[in-house]
Amino acid sequence: MTASTSKDIRQISKQDLLDYCSSQGLPSFRANQMWEWIWKKGVTRFDDMRNVPKDLRSKLSEDFHFQGVELDKVQKSMDGTIKSRLKLHDGHMIEAVLIPVPKDKRFTVCVSSQVGCSLSCSFCATGKMKRMRNLDPAEIYDQVVIVNKQCQEHFDANLTNIVFMGMGEPLLAYNNVLKGIEHITSEYGLHMSPRRITVSTVGIEKMIRKLADDGVRFNLALSLHAAIDEKRDQIMPINETNNLDALMLALKYFYNTTNNRISYEYIAFEGFNDGIEDARALYHLCRDFPVRINIIEYNPVEGVPYVKSPEDRIDAFARYLTDKGVMVTLRRSRGKDIDAACGQLANKG
Ligand code: SF4
Repeated sequence: MTASTSKDIRQISKQDLLDYCSSQGLPSFRANQMWEWIWKKGVTRFDDMRNVPKDLRSKLSEDFHFQGVELDKVQKSMDGTIKSRLKLHDGHMIEAVLIPVPKDKRFTVCVSSQVGCSLSCSFCATGKMKRMRNLDPAEIYDQVVIVNKQCQEHFDANLTNIVFMGMGEPLLAYNNVLKGIEHITSEYGLHMSPRRITVSTVGIEKMIRKLADDGVRFNLALSLHAAIDEKRDQIMPINETNNLDALMLALKYFYNTTNNRISYEYIAFEGFNDGIEDARALYHLCRDFPVRINIIEYNPVEGVPYVKSPEDRIDAFARYLTDKGVMVTLRRSRGKDIDAACGQLANKG
C-alpha cells in the first residue's frame, strides 16, 4: 500500500493496534512493543523497531506509514531562545520555541496547535496568516520531542514546561490538543506532569466549560490583553461573541470544577490598555477565583500600529494590582531578534 492509502500509524489507538495484531494472528505483546517504539522511543521508521521481526516490519510498512515532522530551520537568539521551523508531511510549516532559563532550571517549549489562525487578533503576526488546518495529535507530540532533544543537546536538561502559546488557538483544535497532551503526559509517552502544561486561549466560553467538564488537569491561561469589553473588541474580534462577563463565568466554573491554575496574559500597549483605569478594570476580573497575571512586553509586528508601553507605566500598572494583593509577574520578552517572541510567530524564515 502507498502512503496515500495506508494509515498513519500514529493516528490509530492502542486498541486498533491490538486488533491489527490479532487479525494478523500475532500475540498481543507485539502491539505493546510497537506502541512503545512509536510513542516512548519516538521512532519514525518501521526498520528502527529492532525487536520486531523483519517480516513483520515489512508488513507494517505495507499497511501503515509515519507522518513525521521534520526540522526545517533553527534560529538562535542572543538571549538563548531557540526557534525551530518545522515542516509537516503536507509541506505546511509551523514554529516551536525553546525558552531556557538555566539559572532556574526552567526549560519551556512554546508549541503550536494550528497552521495559521482564523482569529485575527490585531497585534499578532500569526493572525495575519490564513488558518490552513489543525495539527494532529502526533504533530503536537513531535514538537515537544524535537525541542526536548534540542534542550538536551544545548542545556543537558529535559524540558520542564510546555505552553500552548504558539501558532493557532488550541481550543479550536480541541480534540487534537487533548489527545496530544494525553500522549505527552502518558506513561507510554513522555510522562510529563499535566501541572507543567499550560494551554492558552483567547477565550471561547463554551470550550472553557468543556475543559472543566472533561476534567483536564493542565493549567489554563487567558490571553486577556484588555479588561474593558470595548477595548478588547478592538484588538480581539472573538470578544464580540465571548465577552468578559461570559468568560469570567466560564473561568469561575473551570476553577470550581478542576481547581487548576488560571493565569491572564496581558500585553501592555502604550496609551491603549496600560492606564490606571485599565488596571482597575483588570482588578475587577481577579476577584472570583485565584489568578496570576503575566504582564508581557509588546514585540513589534510589521504593519501593527501599537507601541510597547514604557517601563514607568508598566510599573505603575503592576503596582496598582500588587498593592491590592494580586499576583503579578512582569515578563521580559524573549527571542525578539529572531521573531520568536509572543505574537511574532509567522514563518518568516
Ligand atoms: S493571538 Fe492567538 S488566537 Fe489571536 S490571532 Fe494570534 S495565534 Fe490566533
